[in-house]
Amino acid sequence: MKKTALFGGTFDPVHNGHIKVAEYAAGVIGAEKVIMVPAKRSPHKDSLPFASAQDRMNMISLAIASRDNFDMSDCEMTRPEPSYTLDTIEYFHSSYGSETQLYWLVGADSLKDLTKWHRIRDIMDLCRIAVMFRAGFANPDFSEFARIFGRSYAQKLSESVIQTPLIEISSTDIRKKIASGQSVKKLIHPDVLKYIIEK
Ligand code: ATP
Repeated sequence: MKKTALFGGTFDPVHNGHIKVAEYAAGVIGAEKVIMVPAKRSPHKDSLPFASAQDRMNMISLAIASRDNFDMSDCEMTRPEPSYTLDTIEYFHSSYGSETQLYWLVGADSLKDLTKWHRIRDIMDLCRIAVMFRAGFANPDFSEFARIFGRSYAQKLSESVIQTPLIEISSTDIRKKIASGQSVKKLIHPDVLKYIIEK
């Protein structure tokens, strides 16, 4: 069965942590492709993204330009709000058909929000949520999830945990560093850095 990894986020900006863990996860899963799916905004964050939708998409395009196994979809950017992950997964499910197993990649920090996702059971019936390790966050624990959604869904989640390398990079940290004049050269793709400086 073909496998495709969908990677949602605000990517404000996209950084080397995103690319490295997604690349690693795709290898473990055996996914032919990672599709980055930037969101207009995160329903789980208090503030709106700082960079515009177009700038965030342009930066992703620059970061993945030399990677044949990476792609980007603007489906969440172009869809009227509210935009749900389930809509995105249904969109890819109907485009690729049931012969492709879809994975939805999330970092371990997103686990705390998982129980709040809109129609999470339907999402998990259509795709596998693959939880990646993240530096500074506890290893995935699904006990709360099991209590709310039952053991079979929690079991499915725990089977798709990926022990990605711990990479201490976040978009928040990058924005702070740039604002205070510190170097982010090692944290983002050189063309993304150039784009940020130009903009
Ligand atoms: P911010 O600091 O603004 O919250 P972020 O660095 O977490 O941003 P997002 O675009 O919100 O970046 O992340 C998209 C997805 O990538 C989320 O599921 C997040 O958990 C995951 N992710 C981001 N950075 C890492 C990392 N260094 N290691 C593992 N997962 C990550």
